[in-house]
Amino acid sequence: MDRCTTDNFQSIVAFFAERKVRLVAVSKTQANNRILALYHQGQRDFGENRVDELVLKQAQLPEDIQWHFVGHLQSKKVKHIAPFVSMIQSVDSVKLLQKINDQAEKNNRIISVLLQVKIASEKNKYGFEVNDLRKFFKNKPDKHYKHIRLRGLMGMATLTDDEGQIQKEFAKLCALFEELKMTPKLKDFDILSMGMSGDYHLALAQGANMVRLGSLLFQD
Ligand SMILES: *Cc1c(COP(=O)(O)O)cnc(C)c1O
Repeated sequence: MDRCTTDNFQSIVAFFAERKVRLVAVSKTQANNRILALYHQGQRDFGENRVDELVLKQAQLPEDIQWHFVGHLQSKKVKHIAPFVSMIQSVDSVKLLQKINDQAEKNNRIISVLLQVKIASEKNKYGFEVNDLRKFFKNKPDKHYKHIRLRGLMGMATLTDDEGQIQKEFAKLCALFEELKMTPKLKDFDILSMGMSGDYHLALAQGANMVRLGSLLFQD
């Protein structure tokens, strides 16, 4: 590791620990030795965005890593990660949620999920529309998905230099999170995953309690 040295990584860890924010190291495209370098410094939450890559890495790396899936997930591929994945952060449809529930049941597991919300202005970004999500929560989700633990929301802001816009998008997601949290009988709905290497400072200011950092941790 060149720039992300032990000292540097420990100060990043301390920064988020002080703020009670959970740090997910997004290790997509990174070689196993670089993942292990963070693992040996205590990091356990790692995120991947491709099923094939995640399955390979899970088989080769320590068992106690908590793998987060953060990319677009096709329903037909859920079965490959259902046996071991710790949290699926990118659930963007009811169909996918149902599939995860079914596969979790097959594996005799309960899988934690975050629902991805479309907050960015870009057309190509995935996620639930806000109003569809409101409808979903009116439908007593706690009753329908016995093998899913609905832990919270995830969102990605627009890729832009306009900090005001990013701030607004994160604020919107936080307000929605607070609103949905009030849904009766919803337990454990307590994670707001927003912020990446370029915008985590804005996400923290808007109430994120989980960040997903890639390039900042794995600098060349
Ligand atoms: C790649 C990725 C990240 C990390 O991005 P960086 O800018 O490298 O920190 C976070 N979240 C998701 C969903 C990603 O795909």
